[in-house]
Amino acid sequence: MKLARWIERGVLAALLFAGLLCPQGARAFYGSLALAFVGIAGTLLVGAAIVTAIAERSTSRLQGPRRLPRFSGRAAKDTTLAALVAASLLAWPLARLFADEPTGLVWDVDAAGGLTVVILGNLGALVVLDAWLYWKHRLLHTRALFPFHRAHHGYRDPTAYASFAVGTVESVLTFWPIVLLAFPWATHYAPVYFGLVGGFVLLNFYLHCGATLRLVEAVLPRLGVNTSAFHNRHHANANVNFGEAMIVWDRLMGTNEAAVEARRAIASR
Ligand SMILES: [Zn+2]
Repeated sequence: MKLARWIERGVLAALLFAGLLCPQGARAFYGSLALAFVGIAGTLLVGAAIVTAIAERSTSRLQGPRRLPRFSGRAAKDTTLAALVAASLLAWPLARLFADEPTGLVWDVDAAGGLTVVILGNLGALVVLDAWLYWKHRLLHTRALFPFHRAHHGYRDPTAYASFAVGTVESVLTFWPIVLLAFPWATHYAPVYFGLVGGFVLLNFYLHCGATLRLVEAVLPRLGVNTSAFHNRHHANANVNFGEAMIVWDRLMGTNEAAVEARRAIASR
């Protein structure tokens, strides 16, 4: 545990001090970092506050009337730290943007390679990123890496504040694709990119809010997308339901709760 804490601190220090090497200058980097941090932390905390205020009053709470503590203060602090990690990654493309240097973000569909390339490229990226999120989460549940994920499982009956309440190492493993924006060859068509990032943030709020919306629970599983009912079970029972964006890999690997329970029932016969 102690070693993990020191590694977390070392990684954060490296992310922050790396800005001294920024080609656009340290001033440009830390200015971008400050702006990104306020934007990301503000969005996540205000969003979590709104979703929590609604979900805690819901009559469809997954774990019934609240018995376990919310730990909202701790979750807000962890979220702020995760926002700092994300900002330290976003500061690289932002510094280039403010210096009028090219980045991977383009607003013109032709400059992004045309409509077909945009659609197929984003679908391909979604499949790859979802696989990465699932296997990253499985890795974080191994004995060696669980110390970097343990705190997130402190929220056994989570609120939206827990959505991004993850440690520094897990934040890097989740948010690293942000850095790709700094490379002009890594073309991201802005409207789709911001739509997907916004969707990912909203989905994460929903996954951790502790309540369900009937229509959402009816539609998302049919599309293979994760839901509050599905992910809440991972917080109640950390051995099942590892999918973060989609639930496809849990089905393929038999790690969804239904499959795990079925195997357990056969084994106990
Ligand atoms: Zn987990």
